[in-house]
Amino acid sequence: MNQPIIELKAVYKKYAEKGVDVQALRGVDLTVYSGEFVAIMGPSGSGKSTLMNVMGCLDLPDAGSFHFAGDDVTDLDLDALARLRNRSLGFVFQNFNLLPRTSALENVETPLIYAGVEKKHRRRLATSVLEKLGLGQRLNHLPNQLSGGQQQRVAIARALVNRPSVVLADEPTGNLDSGTSEEIMSLFQELNENEGVTIVLITHELPIAQRARRRLTLRDGLLEGN
Ligand code: ADP
Repeated sequence: MNQPIIELKAVYKKYAEKGVDVQALRGVDLTVYSGEFVAIMGPSGSGKSTLMNVMGCLDLPDAGSFHFAGDDVTDLDLDALARLRNRSLGFVFQNFNLLPRTSALENVETPLIYAGVEKKHRRRLATSVLEKLGLGQRLNHLPNQLSGGQQQRVAIARALVNRPSVVLADEPTGNLDSGTSEEIMSLFQELNENEGVTIVLITHELPIAQRARRRLTLRDGLLEGN
């Protein structure tokens, strides 16, 4: 039996906008086990990004509990949260979020710089992940010299290079055409099935969600199908 990596219990999160409270999460319970591939669906405004920010330790819940690999995240100070994000989480975004004037290789090296990995080792690790994702011939290309699918592969390489416990992907195919989306989803499936990478993916597209092994839906800040 695999260990729980992410455990949310009765998580609430609200925003105050112009003096009015918007309850974005209204008692979310979610356990993600090591080795899972979970897709979270839901219409716009249902709380997907808010949930992702909580799971990614970018934002703390107002109420409820959040354990990551058994540790109570709400007990951690800002430095400990930053360390947890850097060492244990990999992020993939809809618009790739690559550093623009920086090569593919240097983009993938960035998390290793923060982790204090020495330069030679950094270069070797980043090169090997990029090669594995089929970008061995593109190491020194800048993001604007790469296609959307290649840029997303660089972003996935960057998310994987620290060997995180979980990869969180927020609408990773949202800016890609359908053929490239298929390729990226096949890559996620392969990483999950062959390398045991735990993936939580947010999407509003059913065909994308169907590539995951478990599907959940957020509606008005509540999770269904858990
Ligand atoms: P989704 O990602 O599913 O579109 P969000 O998590 O972005 O949903 O938003 C959930 C709800 O919280 C929405 O009603 C949204 O308007 C509100 N919300 C999100 N972020 C903020 C914010 N920074 N300030 C105020 N309201 C917000």
